[in-house]
Amino acid sequence: MLATRLTEARPDLQILLLEAGGNHNEDPRVKIPALFSQTWGDSTIDWNYRSVPQSELDGKEIALARGKGLGGSSLINYMALVHPSKAGFDAWAELGNTGWDWDSMAPYLRKFQTFHMPNEKAADDLGLQNINIQAQGVDGPVHASYSEPHPMDVAWLTTFRKLGYAMQADTMSGQNIGGYQVTSSIDPTTRERSHSAMAFLERVKTMSNLEVLTNVLVDKVLFANQSRPRASGIKFIYNGQEHTVSASKEVILCGGALGTPAILERSGIGNTKLLQSLGIHTVVQNENVGENLQDHFMCATSFELNDDIETIDCMRDPAYIEQAMARYQHDRSGPLGEPSASFAYMPLLDEDAPHASKFQTLIDQYLGTTSDTSTMPEAQKTSLKFTKKVLEDKNEASANFCTVRMQAHLEHTDLGDAFALNTTRQLPEHIHGSRSPTITRKHTLYRIIPRSSSPN
Ligand SMILES: Cc1cc2nc3c(=O)[nH]c(=O)nc-3n(C[C@H](O)[C@H](O)[C@H](O)COP(=O)(O)OP(=O)(O)OC[C@H]3O[C@@H](n4cnc5c(N)ncnc54)[C@H](O)[C@@H]3O)c2cc1C
Repeated sequence: MLATRLTEARPDLQILLLEAGGNHNEDPRVKIPALFSQTWGDSTIDWNYRSVPQSELDGKEIALARGKGLGGSSLINYMALVHPSKAGFDAWAELGNTGWDWDSMAPYLRKFQTFHMPNEKAADDLGLQNINIQAQGVDGPVHASYSEPHPMDVAWLTTFRKLGYAMQADTMSGQNIGGYQVTSSIDPTTRERSHSAMAFLERVKTMSNLEVLTNVLVDKVLFANQSRPRASGIKFIYNGQEHTVSASKEVILCGGALGTPAILERSGIGNTKLLQSLGIHTVVQNENVGENLQDHFMCATSFELNDDIETIDCMRDPAYIEQAMARYQHDRSGPLGEPSASFAYMPLLDEDAPHASKFQTLIDQYLGTTSDTSTMPEAQKTSLKFTKKVLEDKNEASANFCTVRMQAHLEHTDLGDAFALNTTRQLPEHIHGSRSPTITRKHTLYRIIPRSSSPN
């Protein structure tokens, strides 16, 4: 996206885009929405990271899928366009990130998307009364659309409505509380994934001021002046050979939450102690690089459905897939084009619940008065303060609930197996799984090990 915007806005600049993976625009697993999980674990498109065994999870290793290729993780993600909160953005700014507050960021939430309102009947079934079309972006490159209403969506919305938690505000308001139907990044005309390589890069690929190199592993940023460092280029590996390229203006890193800190550290930007231990000369000391990653903590419960409710699991039946494929090819209808999800943003703290006082005790123990934060870096203390504030505010969302219309075998270490459609295993009635919450190498909780360190 950034390369596209730069290419268009600055014809006077020569832009070079380096990407570790390839071009997957024609891969049916990328194009056809319901095939999303087929990419997970395939190292040609997924970095396939996994953690070291987690002592807090009885030694379990955690799989971390990350997209590799033009479009990054938008090639392999679930396509749910979940909406951020005002409080979350404002907290980024409070941490010292000027320009990342809600008021500055909100226009970009509109700029990237074209929101497609479904017909009146579908909008009614999907409970879209809260949507204010004026507040949604309607001319951006990424398509945001809804699937045909499914009985599970309707049941979900009815349940939250009965609990007094129907979402009232528009999804772009930054004040999202309650159950609702999310849009998916799917083009409603072609029913294909609207990922960032298709939505952005495709339209500038023939412009003469852009060059794109794929299957290139960026090793490190080079610096012109070690005493007052200024990025002067990049060292990268292509076909097993090292190359360098110089930059006269800027080097911009967009390697994702795992890739960018790794490149920074290899370049000498990070915690001196760690860099020294790896034989890397420190260019800029910064103890926060590569630390304190916050991942989703996810618990899943599977429910058995009535026989007449179709889910993605039906695709275990070859006859069903054949029929679904025929429908998709004929007029893009049917289940292959619509793996949608219902979401809810809710406060975790329910004052009336029997566990409310225990919850407060846990907050105090880990985030509050009785916790020891004396050795924490300032940024981490500010982050904990924010987490505590949100957890204690019943008008802010601190938990995200969602339904996905397929079985999840979260006891599997590999994501591809966890959501595999071709598994013949019988699912136990209720499956519970979890992913590690705060990840910090200080406690050697999590060391990311790519299965293969060189790109294909
Ligand atoms: C399985 C999965 C499901 C998800 N589902 C959803 C969802 O439903 N809704 C949602 O909102 N979000 C979802 N996400 C998250 C979302 O996709 C990411 O937040 C988003 O794509 C991050 O964008 P990014 O540009 O920061 O990083 P990425 O999209 O990860 O892009 C980083 C790019 O940098 C490249 N790169 C990294 N290191 C190097 C290197 N050394 N040299 C060259 N290139 C390099 C990578 O190959 C990649 O192309 C999901 C993510 C995954 C993995």
